[in-house]
Amino acid sequence: MIKDFEQFQDMIARLYPELSQTDNTDPTAKKVLSKTVTFQVTDACNLNCTYYYQINKGKRTMKFETAKKLIDLLLTGDRRLNSYIDPQTSPGIILEFIGGEPFLAVALIDEICHYFYTKAIELCHPWATKFCISICSNGVLYFDPAVQRFLNRWRRHMAFSITIDGNRQLHDSCRIFPDGSPSYDLAVAGAKDWIAKGNYMGSKITIAPENLTYVYDAIVHMVDLGYTDINANVVYEKGWTKKHAAAFYQQLKKVADYWIDHDLFLTHYLALFNDTFFKPLEEDYLDNWCGGTGAMLAVDPDGYLYPCIRYMESSLGTKVKPLRIGHVDTGIAQTDCDRKCVDCLNAVNRRTQSTDECFYCPIAAGCSWCSAYNYQENGTADSRCTYICDMHKARSLANVYAWNSWYQKHNTDQWFPMNCPKDQALEIINQTEYEKLTKLSTEVRNNVIKA
Ligand code: SF4
Ligand code: SF4
Repeated sequence: MIKDFEQFQDMIARLYPELSQTDNTDPTAKKVLSKTVTFQVTDACNLNCTYYYQINKGKRTMKFETAKKLIDLLLTGDRRLNSYIDPQTSPGIILEFIGGEPFLAVALIDEICHYFYTKAIELCHPWATKFCISICSNGVLYFDPAVQRFLNRWRRHMAFSITIDGNRQLHDSCRIFPDGSPSYDLAVAGAKDWIAKGNYMGSKITIAPENLTYVYDAIVHMVDLGYTDINANVVYEKGWTKKHAAAFYQQLKKVADYWIDHDLFLTHYLALFNDTFFKPLEEDYLDNWCGGTGAMLAVDPDGYLYPCIRYMESSLGTKVKPLRIGHVDTGIAQTDCDRKCVDCLNAVNRRTQSTDECFYCPIAAGCSWCSAYNYQENGTADSRCTYICDMHKARSLANVYAWNSWYQKHNTDQWFPMNCPKDQALEIINQTEYEKLTKLSTEVRNNVIKA
C-alpha cells in the first residue's frame, strides 16, 4: 500500500462523495470542495529571503474590522458575495493566514479565528465544524508565548507548517535575516518541537535553479528530521534550462534509490513521485491546475479582494496591475470591472490557456502552472507559461525509474509506462540511460502480463 497524503480538502471530498463526482474522464481529478480564504494579515516579514516571490514587502497590518467584514459576508451568505463561495458547493472552508510572516500578527489571527468560530456557531453554520486554519511560518517566532498559546488553542483545526528548505546549506542560502544571519536553527527547533508534541507538520521544498543540486540532500534531511509528507515543486519562473533538467533527473534518481532502499513509499509521501501523473489527459478534462481562477479568495490588509494572494501587488510587483475582484465594504464583483474580471477567470480552463502542444502532451498529467504568474508574465491568466516544461519531462523520466524499480523490487502487478517521447527524453538524458529506462519499463510490464 503506497502512502497517500490526505489534506483537509481531501477529507472533505471523502465525506461528500456526491459533491466530488466529476463528469470528466480523469479518475484522479477531484473537485474543489473546500475553498481557501486567505487573509494577508501583514505584509511585513522578519526575514529577507532572496528568492521569495513576495517582492514588495511593506509594513501594513490588517485591522480586525476588515477581517470581520469579510467573515460576516462569508457566514451570512450576503448577496454581495455573488455566490463566489457558499457552503452548498464548498462544505469545508480553509482560513489561511499569510504574511509577510503571519506570526508577526498572531494576536489578530487569534481574534479572527475566535470571531469566525463563535459567529459560525451562533448561526449554526455548517462551517462551524468543517473549517481548517492553515498557517505557514518561517518559524522565527514559534516559541513566542503568544504563538504557543494560539497554536495550543486551535491545534485541532490547524494545518501548520514551518518552511524548511531541506538542509542547513539550502535553507540558509535563501532564508536569512536582514543583517544576513541565518534562520535554519530557529526553524528546525520549532518544527521538531511541533512534531515531538504529536502534531502533524506539513512541509514544502521550493526548487529553484540556485538550489537544484541540493534536492537529494534536502529531501533526505527532511526525512531525518521526522517529516513524513514532503511537498516539493519547481518554481514557475523563467530560468530553467535543459542542463537543469538533466541535473534534476539525476537528483530524483538518487532520491528514488534512497526511497526504494528504505521502503519509504510505504511510510512517506513525496510529491515529486506520483504514479497518476505523466500520462496524456482526456480532451474533456479541462480543470484549471490551481485554485487561482475562482477556487480561492484573498483579502489584503486594506480590504481589497483577489482570486489568490499571488495577484496582490506584494507578489506581482509593479509591472502589471494587481488583479482585484472586490472589497470587503462592497462585496465581490459589484462593479463592471470586477464582474468582468471574475467572468474572465471563470472562463479559463485547460483548453483555453494551453497550446496544442501542451493540451495533447503525452505527459500532460501533473504538469502544473500558476494562473497568477501567467497573468504577471503574459498579462492574462488565460495564457500558460511553460518555463517548467523540461523540468516536468525530467520528472516524468525519473518517475519511470522510481515506480518501475519499486514494482520490480516488490514484484507487484503494476508497471509505469514511458510516455515521454524519445526525442524529447534524449534532450535530457543520454541514449544509454534512455535504453535502460525503456528496458526497465518493458521488463516490468512483461512480468505483469506473464503473471
Ligand atoms: S509544458 Fe511541456 S511537459 Fe508540460 S504539458 Fe506543456 S509540453 Fe507537456
Ligand atoms: S499556483 Fe499561483 S495562482 Fe494558483 S493558487 Fe498557487 S499562487 Fe495562486
